[in-house]
Amino acid sequence: MTMTNPPTAMTDALRQCIRGAGLKVTEPRLAVLHALDAMPHASADTVFGEVKNQLPGTSLQAVYGVLAALTAAGLLRKIEPAGSSARYERRTGDNHHHLVCTGCDVIKDVDCAVGEAPCLTAADAAGFEVREAEVTYWGLCAQCRHAA
Ligand SMILES: [Zn+2]
Ligand SMILES: [Zn+2]
Ligand SMILES: [Zn+2]
Repeated sequence: MTMTNPPTAMTDALRQCIRGAGLKVTEPRLAVLHALDAMPHASADTVFGEVKNQLPGTSLQAVYGVLAALTAAGLLRKIEPAGSSARYERRTGDNHHHLVCTGCDVIKDVDCAVGEAPCLTAADAAGFEVREAEVTYWGLCAQCRHAA
């Protein structure tokens, strides 16, 4: 997949987004956010593949650093489905969940079934103050079901 350079208006919005989170705007940070706009739930490797097209000097290590900084600043959400590498997305703060295909690893967003975090009440929270419940629906996507 190759993307053309982002239009200026979009870049401006991304710059504001980075500044708003208290971070310095850098080309790699812009490129990572732009890549994840087009490819939500991408792994670091996938993001790197895309960023490299725009910024040929970038290393995978640098992309990992950018992903960590943007995640810590709340601009990205990191999800870690069992048995798969970590994925990143720009949709943050809405407590949504994920459908993961066991056939092809595709990941789709699912709105929270109940509403606010934590959307599930533990039968026994053992004294914890629960802030978040992460729900993963595993199954076969429509394409894989057709292929089967
Ligand atoms: Zn599938
Ligand atoms: Zn998502
Ligand atoms: Zn939920």
